[in-house]
Amino acid sequence: MIKQLTIIGVGLIGGSLARALREAGAVGEVVGTGRHVAHLQQAQKLGVIDRYTTDLAAAVQGADMVLLAVPVGAMEVVLRTIAPQLPAEAVLTDAGSTKGSVIEAVRRAFGELPANFVPGHPIAGTENSGVEASFADLYRDRRVILTPTEACSADAVTRVREMWQAAGAEVTEMDAEHHDRVLAATSHLPHLLAFALVDTLAKMDDKQEIFAYAAGGFRDFTRIASSDPKMWRDICMHNEPALLAMLDCFEADLKRLREAIAHDDGDYLLEVFSHAKAARDRFCDNE
Ligand code: NAP
Repeated sequence: MIKQLTIIGVGLIGGSLARALREAGAVGEVVGTGRHVAHLQQAQKLGVIDRYTTDLAAAVQGADMVLLAVPVGAMEVVLRTIAPQLPAEAVLTDAGSTKGSVIEAVRRAFGELPANFVPGHPIAGTENSGVEASFADLYRDRRVILTPTEACSADAVTRVREMWQAAGAEVTEMDAEHHDRVLAATSHLPHLLAFALVDTLAKMDDKQEIFAYAAGGFRDFTRIASSDPKMWRDICMHNEPALLAMLDCFEADLKRLREAIAHDDGDYLLEVFSHAKAARDRFCDNE
């Protein structure tokens, strides 16, 4: 049972966790903070938070659990503001999509990695943002990855693990570098490609016709290009080495496909498409 959960950034991710913990009876008071009073008022009206303040340092007072759910590019400024005020007994965790960058931001803000800081990342989300998009079932049967640092106390890890489990999630652990490589492949590259494809098509002269005839396949492939551009800019910029490595790999494969089309190499296309279909059917239909 969490007595006071302070959520910094009451949007889709923070709001959904608050809703889930309330439903599970796993939290006493939920305090919200962010930049805009109107967003926080809306969160209170929706019953997601009990009270709010735009003063980040005041928001963490009295908390036994603090969740950072702001875009990864905003983490360091927020951390520097709360670091001097964070109660010694509070566990600090985050939901950022990149882990190496958040850990380094914590190290810079606190001057060291605190024992009560547990990095985390829920592998759940939608293309919608803001507290209005939050819902209690977002984490049900979804994975949450914790990437404990060498400084983490076992008790802090247990408390964060139990919080996500109370929200319905399955919690796993891995090291931050591994997390950033896996997520570059499974999430960051696909988002980049979806944004890039829609942007390319939207710049074409006959774009009206292109989008008028866009059917199921186009919608399936590009749904995630409706995600928040600023959030994804931050993610791409904060996972640079892993994302560049994935892009190089994909670029080489794309070039090879181009050559196959240019040289009427249907066998190569069939081989790639068959291999891809088998892999997707095997891995994605087992979810
Ligand atoms: P969101 O719906 O846009 O919510 C972000 C919240 O952060 C808003 O309430 C915003 O409120 C606040 N905020 C933004 N900048 C801030 C700043 N500088 N200082 C204080 N508060 C600030 O975004 P989200 O989808 O919940 O994402 C939150 C985090 O979860 C990100 O780190 C993201 O990488 C991660 N994540 C997202 C997904 C996903 O699919 N969406 C999945 C897993 C993890 P104000 O505008 O009022 O400040």
